[in-house]
This record gives sequence, C-alpha cells and structure tokens, in this order.
Amino acid sequence: MMEPPVPPDASDCCNSGCTPCILDVYEAQLKKYEQYCKNNNNLQGCELEIVNSISPTSYTSFKLIEHEQLSPTVYLLKFTYDDSLERVPNCFRYAPGQYLLLRAKDSIGEFTRAYTPIPVTSESDLGFTIIVRCYNDGRMSKLLQKLQIGQKTSWRGPYGDFILNYKYKHLFFIAQGTGIAPLFAIINEIVHNEDRENFIKLFFCCRDCGDILLRDHLYKLSSYWNFSYEVFLSSAANINQKYNEVIHGTKLTTPYLRNYVNGKTGELQAIICGSDNFSEYIKSQLENLGIESNNIHLF
Ligand SMILES: Cc1cc2nc3c(=O)[nH]c(=O)nc-3n(C[C@H](O)[C@H](O)[C@H](O)COP(=O)(O)OP(=O)(O)OC[C@H]3O[C@@H](n4cnc5c(N)ncnc54)[C@H](O)[C@@H]3O)c2cc1C
Repeated sequence: MMEPPVPPDASDCCNSGCTPCILDVYEAQLKKYEQYCKNNNNLQGCELEIVNSISPTSYTSFKLIEHEQLSPTVYLLKFTYDDSLERVPNCFRYAPGQYLLLRAKDSIGEFTRAYTPIPVTSESDLGFTIIVRCYNDGRMSKLLQKLQIGQKTSWRGPYGDFILNYKYKHLFFIAQGTGIAPLFAIINEIVHNEDRENFIKLFFCCRDCGDILLRDHLYKLSSYWNFSYEVFLSSAANINQKYNEVIHGTKLTTPYLRNYVNGKTGELQAIICGSDNFSEYIKSQLENLGIESNNIHLF
C-alpha cells in the first residue's frame, strides 16, 4: 500500500537550493500516488497499512536518544520519532543506500545536510542511526557535536534511487571514511537475503585503525559465506589488528585493485563512495583495468 504524501508547509522550503527541493518532491510523490490509486481503481484514497515515521514531503521531528563518540571526529547518533506528534507511524522505512536531509538553523539562516541511515536500528524503533564525521568549521558539524539527548531535530526523506544490478556475479564495494554508510547498508541487505548469490568484496580506505568505522559490524558480516573485506590505512603508524581482519598499512593502489578484478572484468559491478577526488581516482583506475564505466557506480 502506498501512503499519500504529506503536503509541505509553505515555510518548509528554505530557498537555499536543497537537493532535492521539498516542493518538487511533493509534486512528484503526488503524481505517483495518484497513478497508484488510479491503477488500483480507488481514487478516494488507498487503505493504509504502512505508516512511515519519516516523509519525503514534510519535515518530521526526531529526538536524539544516543550520542556516542567513536573517534576524535566521528559520532554515532541515534534518533527516535518524536511521540508528541499527532501521526502514529508503525515503522521507519528506507531502502539501503538512501539518505535523509536534516534541517537546521544557525546565525546565517536555515540550511540542510544529507546523512545516511545505517541498519543498526530495528525498523520498529521508528527511528534511525547515523554516523557523522564532524569538521571544525562545518556548519552542521558544529550543531551535531553539541546536540543534547532529548533535543528535537527536523528530518525529511528518504531519497536516492540507486538500484543494484544483481546480474553481476561479483559486487565490488570501495568506501572511503563515512562513505562506508550507504555501502554498509547495501551489503547488509544482500548478505541477509538468501536469494542472492553474488560474491561481495569491500575495500575500505581509512586513515588509521581508530578510523575503521562500523568495525565490529563489518566483522560480523564477514561470517557470511559471500562477504569479505580488506582495510587500507593511509596513515598507519601502528596496526592494531583485531580478529583476523586483512589490514594493509598502505593506501589503496592499482596493484591491489588489479589483483582483485583480474579475471572478473565482465562479471563485476563496482560501487564507490568517498570524496569526489577519491571516487574519480578509483573509477579511472578500474577503467584502466578493463571495467566498463557503465559498471562503475559513484555514490
Ligand atoms: C547523499 C549524501 C549522504 C551523506 N551521508 C553522510 C553520512 O552518513 N555521514 C556523514 O558524516 N556525512 C554524510 N554526508 C556529508 C554531509 O551531508 C555534510 O556534507 C557533512 O556533514 C559536512 O557538513 P557541514 O555542514 O558540517 O560542513 P560544511 O559547512 O558544509 O563545510 C565546511 C567545511 O567542512 C569541511 N568539509 C565538509 N565536508 C567535507 C568532506 N566531505 N570532506 C572533507 N572536508 C569536508 C571542509 O573544510 C569545508 O570547507 C553525506 C552527503 C551526501 C551528499
């Protein structure tokens, strides 16, 4: 069943060029909903079963319930639906890899930033968890670092329509830093789906061992037959080996990529998430190794 979109308030558009704009999303969702009702022969409104706690067309308040510092600059933040609201949702739904927009206000004005929910929270919690790297001079970073338990925040989403092509036998994920968030969500879904028979490899580029985000979660996932990962450290003063992980005390370079893609080029899809420079560099190396650009997706 499809939910009718909630119309945004006139004040929801902050006129700061957010992508996507809430008004455009509402128009598109309304068209989809009308089409859905038409197809189901019921223009009066469709029976609702799923009531998502978050909406792409209006802001919803979520309260901070956990604030954990994972490294000097990285925080794990957990939010739950603000139950003082009138709507009574029954789930928090998003597709792995999708992102949410957080709206905030500072001395300059209103602005939004994108964050990716990670699947460490149960859907029935009506909330979500994100991993955030905070920058000293970042507008949202400053606010998120100081956020107090119980404080209310305004979110909309989910957005993003990446669809993985499962026809490729090998799915090769390459993440840098917090770029792990959407890739972890996608990998988590694949390994838990018994119908998927793809081999999944993750190359995770981090600064040092303290920067290996979601380390315990990745290790747990590696107990599945089809998933393995290797970590590359750009600044490896000392390697604190945990479990039996494969950790390279060096940046990810072409020979490592070659070693993995060798013999798989026609059967491999690569998915990259990191800074623009990182993603473009890895993409060009993969193309040089014979992977077609159509088979390389940049997040
Ligand atoms: C689809 C999408 C999903 C995202 N998901 C996440 C997520 O799950 N977790 C997360 O932490 N971030 C994520 N981001 C990035 C996030 O939206 C913000 O850009 C980030 O938190 C910085 O915002 P800010 O307002 O603090 O910094 P801004 O005020 O926008 O930037 C100020 C300064 O911060 C520094 N800075 C900002 N971004 C970067 C960067 N990427 N690399 C290096 N320096 C930077 C620079 O010094 C910059 O000049 C995502 C972005 C997109 C587009």
